[in-house]
Amino acid sequence: MIMPVRDPELAEVRVLTSAFFGSQTPLEEAEKYGGRPYEERPQQKEMAQYVAESLIASENLCIEAPTGVGKSFAYLIPSIYYSLKKKKPVIVTTETINLQEQLVNKDIPILKELMETEFTACLAKGRGNYVCRRKLELTTGNGQSEYLPSNSMVPEIVRIAKWSETTFDGTLADLGFEPQLNTWLCVCCEAVNCFGPKCKKFRDCFYWNARKQWDKANIVVTNHALFLADLKMKMTDDIEGGVLPAYGAVILDEAHQLEMNAAKHLGVRISESGIFTMLNKLYNSSHGRGLLIRPGTEASELRELVTSAFEYTNTFFNSIREYMSDFDDNQKRILKPNIVEDVLTGQLSLLERKLEEYMKLQEDADYKLEITAQLLRCREYTQAVFEFIMMRAEESVYWIETNDNSLKQNATLNYSPLDVAGILKKYLFDKEFPVVLTSATLSVGKKLDFYKKRTGFSGIEKILSSPFDYLNQAKVYIPKSIPDPMDARFEEQLGEYIKKYIEKTSGKAFVLFTSYGLLSKMKQATAAYFEEKGIQLLVQGEGISRSRMIKVFKEDIDSVIFGTTSFWMGVDVPGEALSNVIITKLPFSVPSDPLIEARLEKIRKEGKNAFMEYSLPEAVLKFKQGIGRLIRSKKDTGIIAILDRRIISKQYGRTFLDSMPPCPILIE
Ligand code: SF4
Repeated sequence: MIMPVRDPELAEVRVLTSAFFGSQTPLEEAEKYGGRPYEERPQQKEMAQYVAESLIASENLCIEAPTGVGKSFAYLIPSIYYSLKKKKPVIVTTETINLQEQLVNKDIPILKELMETEFTACLAKGRGNYVCRRKLELTTGNGQSEYLPSNSMVPEIVRIAKWSETTFDGTLADLGFEPQLNTWLCVCCEAVNCFGPKCKKFRDCFYWNARKQWDKANIVVTNHALFLADLKMKMTDDIEGGVLPAYGAVILDEAHQLEMNAAKHLGVRISESGIFTMLNKLYNSSHGRGLLIRPGTEASELRELVTSAFEYTNTFFNSIREYMSDFDDNQKRILKPNIVEDVLTGQLSLLERKLEEYMKLQEDADYKLEITAQLLRCREYTQAVFEFIMMRAEESVYWIETNDNSLKQNATLNYSPLDVAGILKKYLFDKEFPVVLTSATLSVGKKLDFYKKRTGFSGIEKILSSPFDYLNQAKVYIPKSIPDPMDARFEEQLGEYIKKYIEKTSGKAFVLFTSYGLLSKMKQATAAYFEEKGIQLLVQGEGISRSRMIKVFKEDIDSVIFGTTSFWMGVDVPGEALSNVIITKLPFSVPSDPLIEARLEKIRKEGKNAFMEYSLPEAVLKFKQGIGRLIRSKKDTGIIAILDRRIISKQYGRTFLDSMPPCPILIE
């Protein structure tokens, strides 16, 4: 594919990229620097050419690159050449920290060895990851009882202060222990209380020094959360600024999560605990600490206001809990305004006004800034709670979430845009810079139509073929005797089918569920079997973290994982340890999920079939992610068992089958 070149300077990106992937490619040397042994990968070369053409023609590209293509090199190499010519950074954004680490710690260092051209790259993290030296000084100095709202935080602050003397980047990842969130929030960098270049610590500031690197880098690796937060800032302030440097192109990897991530990060989430944290920073009456313990009548008046704001917050969230107690689910979509009486925003806006008056009287710059920060937070909460209660944000979905228990604790109020496609189109895809979207699973039935519609993408489309020999590497089993999942006998018999297919590989399996309920029933039904066989069963939701489960799973070759949503994607276990993927049910989303419910409703209102337009293609993408866990390299082999007979009994089952890689299918 050759695209017209708008800027003749950029034409060289095409030449350099094809030279890099030509005969005698430097990739032959990659193994010497810790890379994979070289093998010719035509799909990688093809992808690199597509990315190069998209960049030089400034056209968006949506490219499905199945596992094994080697997509990170395929987009990094043209991006590096492009950035050097364009003299602007290219943002590479991913969903998972694993992929960011792979890019920064492995792929980019290898390319630095292999490419003749010099380039710079860095990892951009959100502000909240960096310790703020100024706040650390305040929380460890004489005014500690003002800047640290609880005595119990002191030991952790002492440890953080000691670490700050030796850390190389001042980020949470380097800290070596996990502090309480509220402690970290007292010393981390935040936009609302940063002096920026006027700060006396500016020269040694971890965050601002990192940002200087981002501005100079050719490749800035980041995550979808920071990328979308930056986009949101540019949307609301209508400025070209934001947190990330002015970039020349965006590579959005793991793009299958784009719609979900955009809804999450472009929306608003108000937590009960967030409001308490803000109030505690102002005045924690039980510890006699907080910013407002300073003497004076104004502070004393404000302390009383904070104390009553605590009470009003409690009353407000108690009514939210009471409202939620009528429902079994821990999340509930809100369809009309004023579901509870708004006793909170009046009190918060009074506090905000008084804080503003008080702030103006202050002369100590540090103290004034901290008061201003809480004042701004208070203003944000007032507006957000009011918007939520009145449902004022247009075209939005509103819902409440609580802990998954009968007490309905830790309530959050949420609202998100219903149609992220329109927003992404306006603020991302229609901008002057090119955007490349890539993932192993974007197509449904060999087409990108569903994905494009959901994300608002427009531009060049490409689906690459898989480099794997699925015909010989994988086999699919579909039992036809298993009852339909709608039949009560399904759950009674499912355990036996799981055991039957586990037998075929003596463990070494991921058993993927669509709900915790079914997962825990199947754990009960199969626990004795695993015990008897001496196969370790790792069950999600039993107190072991996902990363720990995967580590144990890789080490204990025969072990089996029972997992839900987060195991369907983003898990990479090459080799024998994962020789079997068992799909218990086709992964249709729960229609009562507030965002899903609202999307389905919108499609129905447009007179379309919500199942065919949304539920089915969305499930197919998740299904592809699930089965994609099995074959991760050319040496992998294994089986996939699909225990949901609807894939063969229902007409729509064809769409799932058509989206599968070409493996032999045994219906038995
Ligand atoms: S510049 Fe901002 S983040 Fe850095 S030390 Fe100063 S206040 Fe903290």
